[in-house]
Amino acid sequence: MNNPAYAPFLDEGKIRDIIENQGVPDTGRISDILKKAREGKGLDLAEVAVLLAPMPGESLEALYAEALAMKEKVYGKRMVLFAPLYISNLCVNSCAYCAFSATNKDLERKSLTDEEIIEEVKRIQTMGHKRVLAVYGEHPKWNAQAIVKSIETIYAVKTPPSGEIRRINVNCAPLDVDGFRLLKGADVGTYQCFQEPYHRKTYNARHFGGIKKDYDARLFTMHRAQEAGLDDVGLGVLFGLFDPRFEVLSLLQHSATLEKEYGAGPHTVSFPRIEPAQNSTLSDNPPYAVSDDMFKRIIAVVRLALPYTGMIITSREKPALKRELFRLGISQLSAGSRTSPGGYANADTNKPEAQQFWVGDERELPEMIHDLQEDGYLPSFCTSCYRKGRTGEHFMGFARNAFIHKFCQPNALLTYYEYLLDYGDDLALTEGRRCVWENLEAIPARARREALRRRLLRIENGQRDLCV
Ligand code: SAM
Ligand code: SF4
Repeated sequence: MNNPAYAPFLDEGKIRDIIENQGVPDTGRISDILKKAREGKGLDLAEVAVLLAPMPGESLEALYAEALAMKEKVYGKRMVLFAPLYISNLCVNSCAYCAFSATNKDLERKSLTDEEIIEEVKRIQTMGHKRVLAVYGEHPKWNAQAIVKSIETIYAVKTPPSGEIRRINVNCAPLDVDGFRLLKGADVGTYQCFQEPYHRKTYNARHFGGIKKDYDARLFTMHRAQEAGLDDVGLGVLFGLFDPRFEVLSLLQHSATLEKEYGAGPHTVSFPRIEPAQNSTLSDNPPYAVSDDMFKRIIAVVRLALPYTGMIITSREKPALKRELFRLGISQLSAGSRTSPGGYANADTNKPEAQQFWVGDERELPEMIHDLQEDGYLPSFCTSCYRKGRTGEHFMGFARNAFIHKFCQPNALLTYYEYLLDYGDDLALTEGRRCVWENLEAIPARARREALRRRLLRIENGQRDLCV
């Protein structure tokens, strides 16, 4: 793919220089940086490098406290839930870490038919989800037109009592500008694509076959998406392939470029760590495995560097660690996930030989919701922003002014209440109702609280999809 019009933005030399020459940061410098972070204007690369370097326990506690305060200021207590929907594991690429790699001859290849997509969606809707992330391997069969057709199929499925998918995010191979225009026309929410490693040499070594070999084509993916009007984009690094400090700084350079050139940084950042995958020796022993402690640090630092960006954790991570990550900045998570095409409808396809990677969290949605609530969070099935036109630059405007409280919290209450009434069992409904009404009473502005109460009562009386 040709990217002639795009100026290079990643400065490997500068990033290496910052990492190598920062010296040993003292506690005074660290607290100055944390003080600056509190203003909510982000951090520069040198400041981020300091926060990613080893520091005394006291400073680390201060960093974590700052990250939690920022998260709660911007997103309140709500946690958005979604389900991944694997459509196809056919893939022409050879990525050293992925079970879908063309080199893996033992994987059971599967591409869902329209009927199978419908069946998967029905299962997901019956769980209570309203938002899916559609995932595709890279294959000529799954070109932009085919992807769009599958999106239309997903949106068309409706299952009583209130089953519908209101927002489809997409994680598929990079497209050209025309392809992204088609995707935009199909009303997708966020388009996600991870650079895997930003480090060029590592990228080249770990992608040894297929279209994905072209580093630059991948690096400018989001430029093409933005050009096509797809302005909600999701970035990510696949951690474990190269020095995480280099990777985080690169991701922030990427984010800054998108913001400068298109008026909006990433809508979301995902944090995949390499999990064991079939026939991938690299995935069993990643060369730059990121420890839980470093992972926590990364999440906290990105929360401060990109205060208004949704941060996503998936079923790759185990429940106990996730709990800690929620306190450090994560605002969205997948729940009840299956990582094989057909995995929701057919338990047989959910065996390791058909999965993309081993999932670390096997909790089903009700258990996840129970645990979230017990920790004081408010589960949310909100899909409102992009449907109300709050995307890209527009969305950033809202978020930046912390107006997100006016939308996220009410929409979390409205969508969670719908979920409880339609999909919760007696116990969930009792616990959940208490949570909804307590959160409602805690809203200080009287007019807003009473307007929301009226909406909740309309939901109680059978109305649905009353988001603000
Ligand atoms: N084929 C598209 C691509 O490569 O961008 C999208 C689908 S791919 C299944 C989605 C993401 O899964 C990849 O971008 C990669 O970061 C992640 N992934 C692949 N293998 C993984 C593994 N073993 N553990 C964790 N994540 C993995
Ligand atoms: Fe294919 Fe994506 Fe897996 Fe690479 S990461 S093998 S491109 S599905």
